[in-house]
Amino acid sequence: MIQVRAKKHLGQHFLTDLQIALNIVESLPSDTTSVLEIGPGTGVLTQFLINKSQFRFSAVEIDSEAGAYLKEKFPSLHLIEGDFLKMNLKKEFGEQPFSIIGNFPYNISSQIFFKILDNRDQIPCVVGMVQKEVAERIAARHGNKTYGITSVLLQAFYTIEYLFTVSEHVFDPPPKVKSAVTRLTRNSVKKLDCNETLFVRTVKTAFNQRRKTLRNSLKPLLNGQSVTEPIFDLRPEQLSVNDFISLTNLLEEKTENKTI
Ligand code: SAH
Repeated sequence: MIQVRAKKHLGQHFLTDLQIALNIVESLPSDTTSVLEIGPGTGVLTQFLINKSQFRFSAVEIDSEAGAYLKEKFPSLHLIEGDFLKMNLKKEFGEQPFSIIGNFPYNISSQIFFKILDNRDQIPCVVGMVQKEVAERIAARHGNKTYGITSVLLQAFYTIEYLFTVSEHVFDPPPKVKSAVTRLTRNSVKKLDCNETLFVRTVKTAFNQRRKTLRNSLKPLLNGQSVTEPIFDLRPEQLSVNDFISLTNLLEEKTENKTI
């Protein structure tokens, strides 16, 4: 059997607890029709996914050593050998919906979430293990210290559940931090009630200087306009997703006829 040496630069921490692996797999909703696993590694989740006849299953793995191991262990696996971040999802799935599962490589978890957001209308559910603090951040509600860019952008389109915490001791090699499993379920919002490009810019600009009031942090978007509305006295962590939508509309009104 091929040996897979854990590679740090690929965020490789292999889960060793089979019960936890099963709990992760069972967190997918029962009506799932197609699943993509990101980073199967040595296949601890894969072994529970591959024999489920209820859905079509594929996996994407960047490490060729792990790829060789997986092909030997699971000859029937539909394995895409490459980088999820560069993967052409349309080529693989066409217009069909698919859900995502994985013990994500932690060094690229934000990029994974941004790619999911870009393809949100095709991705009904995501079950992902990430660093505990990332899980807390994406699930955080406004008013919470960890609420940030990914919380707002993901919560605009997904309901986020923090499912359970996972100790560093059930990985080989153990990561430095605790982990947590989260579930993202697509909500019914097709389009935000505002200019979506400006929404993303507003959220990012506001949280870039999160300790400042919006009046100060959003100066780059105000083109010198002075603002008196009370919302500008707030700091970004005080705003719900809907508040950010109202704020975006307000900014668009104020800067109308000016290029943004
Ligand atoms: N699912 C396995 C491995 C998790 S470690 C387990 O739970 O034990 C993260 C895995 O993601 C590794 O196998 C790593 O090689 C893979 N990986 C890292 N970057 C990737 C990328 N950009 N695209 C696809 N897989 C990647």
